[in-house]
Amino acid sequence: MNIHEYQAKALLEKYGVAVPKGIAVRSAAEFEPALAQFPEGPVVVKSQLHAGGRGKGTFTDGFKGGVKIAQSKAEALDYAKRMFGNTLVTVQTGPAGRKVQAIYFTQASSIKKEYYLAILLDRASSRPVIVASTEGGVEIEKVARETPEKIVKVFIDPAIGLADYQMRQLLFGLRFNPTEAKNAAKLIRNLYTAFWETDASMVEINPLITTPDDQVQALDAKISFDDNALFRHPEIVALRDLNEEDPKETEAAKHSLNYIALDGNIACLVNGAGLAMSTMDIIKHFGGNPANFLDVGGGATKEQVVAAFKIILTDPKVKGILVNIFGGIMDCNVIAAGIVEAVKEVGLKLPLVVRLEGNNVAAGKATLDASGLKLVSGGSMADAAKKIVKLVA
Ligand code: GDP
Ligand code: MG
Repeated sequence: MNIHEYQAKALLEKYGVAVPKGIAVRSAAEFEPALAQFPEGPVVVKSQLHAGGRGKGTFTDGFKGGVKIAQSKAEALDYAKRMFGNTLVTVQTGPAGRKVQAIYFTQASSIKKEYYLAILLDRASSRPVIVASTEGGVEIEKVARETPEKIVKVFIDPAIGLADYQMRQLLFGLRFNPTEAKNAAKLIRNLYTAFWETDASMVEINPLITTPDDQVQALDAKISFDDNALFRHPEIVALRDLNEEDPKETEAAKHSLNYIALDGNIACLVNGAGLAMSTMDIIKHFGGNPANFLDVGGGATKEQVVAAFKIILTDPKVKGILVNIFGGIMDCNVIAAGIVEAVKEVGLKLPLVVRLEGNNVAAGKATLDASGLKLVSGGSMADAAKKIVKLVA
């Protein structure tokens, strides 16, 4: 789960991480009262989206910059009006962009230098890793590609935590002066505690800045949490913004389905994550493009199958459907009944290829036959994939 920058900063501030003062608003009526609380002088106006690259983004009406530094409150008000309700396209939103539904005003900081700092889980070593660089404010992927020597990494033993020698490695790597180093050490330590205690999978500060008087601040903040640990953090779950999530994924989660929307046009309904992966692979292999990953699980009920099928059918990108079921625990007839029920409720105007195999397959096929549904049977996985790719093309 992801949260907005303003929420991340409020959370980090509780852990003692220095952030610029700011106020977030979710309606235009709040702009002026919020700005009234700022002293005269520059104010930063920041579009709130679960996507980075806002500063360099462009709105669909041509207005440039989802993060703007206003020299006065009047200018800040102007920027907020241009951004709010407008659709911002950044490298991370995809070409359709995302509608800005919250604005964050912050006091402008003077920047001496921008740095990059992130804490994330390194799956290879099964440890948290702190990644830091003197090249902040730019994409870290670009730094990693072109000047990897400018990235410092420390791998943290979770049982010991961030050790002093590792902190010194980071501070040395970032070449802070003594006062900056003292302030940065405090910030990094608190950031690590926040990462650890909230079960975050990533905390990214880009940029981390130093100011002319050697203060160190998190100027931007992005946090992702481990969904599997959310049950321990109701206060974090309360920060969820459904506007920022794919409604299809939200609906799927309600029915305990593992669904991830993708860019292609062939919808897949599969049981088991491994089979789902190989189904997507084989669609690609035959020149098609999957529209989603959807695992209905090993013991799905008819209701779940209906819900899954409906989610697929409401995706306008979908031009064909491949059902690929291997009945182990799963009863093929439950899948068949679910398909028939869902199509009865929402109709089916798209090509549908069904490959059923395993537990109670004969009954499942009989249910589909008896329904009069227009569908194509797939024999092997390859056969089914070839058929749907051809039908969609
Ligand atoms: P992002 O583009 O989505 O990563 O948004 P950021 O919050 O990182 O802002 C983009 C850029 O705007 C930063 O890298 C800074 O260079 C600049 N910026 C943001 N806030 C301030 C500020 O308070 N003062 C100054 N001088 N620049 C800022
Ligand atoms: Mg940033």
